[in-house]
Amino acid sequence: MSGILVVAEHRQGVLRPVSLELVSAVQDVRGALGDKVTVAVIGAGARAHQQTLSMAGVDELVFIDTPDAEFDPEVTEAALAALAAEIRPSLVVVPHSVDSMGYAASLAIRNGYGFATDVFGVAADGAAVVATRGGYGQKVNVELEFPGASTVLLALRGGTWKPPVDAASPAARDFAFSAPASRSKNVEFISPPATNDVDMTAKEFILSVGRGVGEEDNIERFRELADTVGAALGCSRPVADSGWLPKSRQIGQSGKTAAQCKLYMAMGISGAIQHLAGMKHVETIIAVNTDPNASIFSVAKYGVIGDMFEIADELEKHFA
Ligand SMILES: Cc1cc2nc3c(=O)[nH]c(=O)nc-3n(C[C@H](O)[C@H](O)[C@H](O)COP(=O)(O)OP(=O)(O)OC[C@H]3O[C@@H](n4cnc5c(N)ncnc54)[C@H](O)[C@@H]3O)c2cc1C
Repeated sequence: MSGILVVAEHRQGVLRPVSLELVSAVQDVRGALGDKVTVAVIGAGARAHQQTLSMAGVDELVFIDTPDAEFDPEVTEAALAALAAEIRPSLVVVPHSVDSMGYAASLAIRNGYGFATDVFGVAADGAAVVATRGGYGQKVNVELEFPGASTVLLALRGGTWKPPVDAASPAARDFAFSAPASRSKNVEFISPPATNDVDMTAKEFILSVGRGVGEEDNIERFRELADTVGAALGCSRPVADSGWLPKSRQIGQSGKTAAQCKLYMAMGISGAIQHLAGMKHVETIIAVNTDPNASIFSVAKYGVIGDMFEIADELEKHFA
């Protein structure tokens, strides 16, 4: 077994951004697990995504047309089983999504693959895959190995890796398989309700407040500060759990990943491991905390030991 198979995902004719994140996720292990990265697109009109998927880190694109225009878990599973039988990858990655919940587990069981879902770290120990995911209600990070499995299938959490930026010209081909008669029928596609809040995963500058903000009435002050400096206002979990800011603003393991963020300012946030999971990768982190021993300083490029309200005043004066 050698090489890596990445499964792209599209819905209603639009490629889901997680598809490109998966390409980035496997780059660190490609040497250890085999050099070739193949990206498969399954479904009617798969070729439409060729240009978007022609990125650095992709060696080959494989398009698998299906009889039905809509996603079908059984057909997808059969397509992937047939492709995997041909290319014999050591690692298969799929998005951790509502679609993959329909086919990934049964694909793994039927073919004897190692399997893990909601994975947010992929590494190699020699030629063995090591996956990181949450355990015990996301209280700890668990590293999983898959002894005896020559192929491992991982469902990866979106919003975790930065997509590749450089275009490339990977080889492209079609792949035909024998589609099973479908036992399910698509009745209607119902779009999820639109959210009118910001998408924190897409923001380049985030100013987040934690429990140090003290009380709900103080949030407005930091909302104004975020507006003044041109940042999106984020928060730690206690702030969202208290209902002071919407859950969609929460950064961290059970919130959003600051995937596109270049500058992250953490004010009154201690730096618990679950918060760091959503932002520690950001290139420039500025932390403001009254406690010089706060963990947030371990990931910060710039640290201010001080009162977040005083620093907020200074920033307001500076940017006004
Ligand atoms: C399953 C699970 C999932 C979780 N997911 C997430 C998640 O996605 N995101 C997340 O954030 N947390 C998450 N948590 C919670 C996490 O463990 C921490 O409890 C949380 O991150 C702490 O938030 P905080 O830093 O705002 O609060 P605290 O830990 O209470 O820290 C407040 C900080 O503010 C400082 N401070 C106080 N006053 C001031 C001031 N005036 N000026 C400057 N600094 C001040 C203090 O020194 C302190 O360091 C999760 C926990 C579990 C169990």
